[in-house]
Amino acid sequence: MMRRKNGNKHYFTRMGTRKKVHAFVRVKPTDDFAHDMIKYGDDNKSIDIHLKKDLQRGVVNNKQTDWSFKLDGVLHNASQDLVYETVAKDVVAQALDGYNGTIMCYGQTGAGKTYTMTGATENYKHRGILPRALQQVFRMIEERPTHAITVRVSYLEIYNESLFDLLSTLPYVGPSVTPMTIVENPQGVFVKGLSVHLTSQEEDAFSLLFEGETNRIIASHTMNKNSSRSHCIFTIYVEAHSRTLSDEKYITSKINLVDLAGSERLGKSGSEGRVLKEATYINKSLSFLEQAIIALGDQKRDHIPFRQCKLTHALKDSLGGNCNMVLLTNIYGEAAQLEETLSSLRFASRMKLVTTEPAINEKYDAERMVKNLEKELALLKQELAIHDSLANRTLVNYDPMDEIQIAEINSQVRRYLEGTLDEIDIINLRQIQEVFNQFRVVLSQQEQEVESALRRKYTLIDKNDFTAISAVQKAGLMDVDGHLVGEPDGQGFGLGVTSFSTKPGKKSKSKKTFKEQLSSSARKEGASSPVSGKDFEVSTSKTQLTPSSKEGDVKDLPLRDLETSSAEPLPSDSPKEESRPPRPSTPPPKPVAFEDFKNERGSEINRIFKENKSILNERRKRASETTQRINAIKREMDMTKEALNFQKSLREKQGEYENKGLMIIDEEEFLLILKLKDLKKQYRAEYQDLRDLKAEIQYCQHLVDQCRHRLLTEFDIWYNESFFIPEDMQVSLKPGSSIRPGMVPVSRLVSLGEDDQDKFSQLQQMMLPEGPDSISFYNAKVKTEQKHNYLKTMMGLRQGHRK
Ligand code: ADP
Ligand code: MG
Repeated sequence: MMRRKNGNKHYFTRMGTRKKVHAFVRVKPTDDFAHDMIKYGDDNKSIDIHLKKDLQRGVVNNKQTDWSFKLDGVLHNASQDLVYETVAKDVVAQALDGYNGTIMCYGQTGAGKTYTMTGATENYKHRGILPRALQQVFRMIEERPTHAITVRVSYLEIYNESLFDLLSTLPYVGPSVTPMTIVENPQGVFVKGLSVHLTSQEEDAFSLLFEGETNRIIASHTMNKNSSRSHCIFTIYVEAHSRTLSDEKYITSKINLVDLAGSERLGKSGSEGRVLKEATYINKSLSFLEQAIIALGDQKRDHIPFRQCKLTHALKDSLGGNCNMVLLTNIYGEAAQLEETLSSLRFASRMKLVTTEPAINEKYDAERMVKNLEKELALLKQELAIHDSLANRTLVNYDPMDEIQIAEINSQVRRYLEGTLDEIDIINLRQIQEVFNQFRVVLSQQEQEVESALRRKYTLIDKNDFTAISAVQKAGLMDVDGHLVGEPDGQGFGLGVTSFSTKPGKKSKSKKTFKEQLSSSARKEGASSPVSGKDFEVSTSKTQLTPSSKEGDVKDLPLRDLETSSAEPLPSDSPKEESRPPRPSTPPPKPVAFEDFKNERGSEINRIFKENKSILNERRKRASETTQRINAIKREMDMTKEALNFQKSLREKQGEYENKGLMIIDEEEFLLILKLKDLKKQYRAEYQDLRDLKAEIQYCQHLVDQCRHRLLTEFDIWYNESFFIPEDMQVSLKPGSSIRPGMVPVSRLVSLGEDDQDKFSQLQQMMLPEGPDSISFYNAKVKTEQKHNYLKTMMGLRQGHRK
């Protein structure tokens, strides 16, 4: 079942069937009725209009002169009583059952809209729909003692797109102090700031109605406005709760009684100033109403333009949708008004195309629901207690667990997992659920512990560091297999032809052999020296070694961690500006330039890279040796075990085993057992070594990767700087300057002046102290301020209008 998007759909429960909007016509009594032009059908449901030729002076003859309108009823010479019976009675009656209702009067000024809606306030007999509806509501309440029904009313006037509360409790002093707004929420549309008055009896309701009428007149005088230029919406809100407490549902509904502004087309006669402005507003809002109605009548249309003006917006959930809807068109019966009459009838027949789907607005009383559930719970607990005592169970507590009980379950789970507790007794469902819950808690704690232990021990490498990978590929330095060009078998970068010598004699200063370093870090005594043939040179000077940069087993590795040393300036003896050779006209190919770079600016990083790489290779070699040893031990263990088994089976065959209580074994078997024990010990020790080595390898690999990345990034910068950036712009890139190369893209470095950079970092500090989440916070703040300013402006405008 399809439904329109407007209306209170979240609360519909029982859907009604589709229903057409009812459209009636009421003809104002006149002595001058145009009998020759207006004819009623015999069933009183149609009206035919015939335009006499002499009325259309100067109009071509083929113009239409006859119209026929089919409606739900034509009311002529009808009393106020009959009008109410025909038009409103059912709508009001259904409101008490939870259906929203809307009754609208449409027509040109003077045609009888206000007379129909409000009626004569001084003559009871001629009272209109409003007082009659109130009477019916209160009468029906009396007839329904099973329900507690409350009635509230409000009275809204819309004049030139401004909202006025005709029942404002404040004495009328002009435009309302706090502007009213139309608000939408899942429950529907309401006017924020409009006073809604609880009326416990008919009389109160009438007083309010009259007060509203008076205010309508006073306002029209004080503000010099014509009351027929405004739309008035009187709303009756009904809320019915069953007096049977167990009934959690209650119904709400509202009846909108709408007296629209005059529909006549103004402006033809050359209206000016205020009148013209009023006319524009009325014509606009009525044509928006018509547009909304056309859209509502078109089954294919999904969007209904309700928000184009205050009138349709305020009536959004009262037009079409789930309510009972009636349109009453007031017309004159006189020849002079025929043109307006025609346009009013056209509007009425359009309205007839609109379908609605009346549905009850049912809601749930949360308080009653809680009370009923509590009752039910108490009953079930009693039932459970009886059941337990019948089943001879000791008293079981079914209440929610407190912290101590939960802690006890947690400890049970831990003991169970450790093996010190064999089983966990089942008590009740709540306890079982908590046991599972605590399993999850313990599991996640263990996972965290394992992860943090791993993090302490190893530096985890991120395999997804695509920036590093792409930097390598961009520089054309990585082949398909991921090997660096010019890197034979992981031996480091080959030394190319040196074009500019950079650091003569530097390397030999303050060096210590790698052997010395390693001897202090060797874990196992008697481990064969892994370094064969070549001494690794590792600098120990402050700027070149990073002591104890990592915790754990790897902290004494003599490796260089670029992350901690990169903040330092490159050695000050790198090439000076004046020693730079003249720039070649075409830049050299990257592989060639890379060789130059490694000897020039990149020599230091390259050296560190090579050092780290050789240490990594050495550790790998040691790991492979250890693996081989482990495999050898394993083989020997297997052999010993086999021998031992053989001995055992031999002994069993000989029946020696039958000597009860005592186990006799021969010397050979005993020696085998000792040997196996020793092998196991060795195996464990080697295995531990291998694990440590693997951690070191992982860490070394990380450093090597880091060095490679750094080398390539700096090469890129150097390459651009040397061959592409004008020399006078290179000031900030000089080696040893305070800006770290590789941290900011070259283009940024060149374009950012010192001031800009200050501003940028200030901005970042301002934006980022609370993390990325703060962005939405600041956005929201800006938006709120904008909204605030907008409201201020609107208020200013409105006050300006009223002066
Ligand atoms: P509208 O609100 O459409 O501008 P009103 O309801 O103010 O028109 O009617 C204009 C005048 O005509 C009023 O004096 C009203 O009493 C009178 N009038 C309108 N319709 C009727 C009717 N059906 N019977 C008697 N008087 C009527
Ligand atoms: Mg009126």
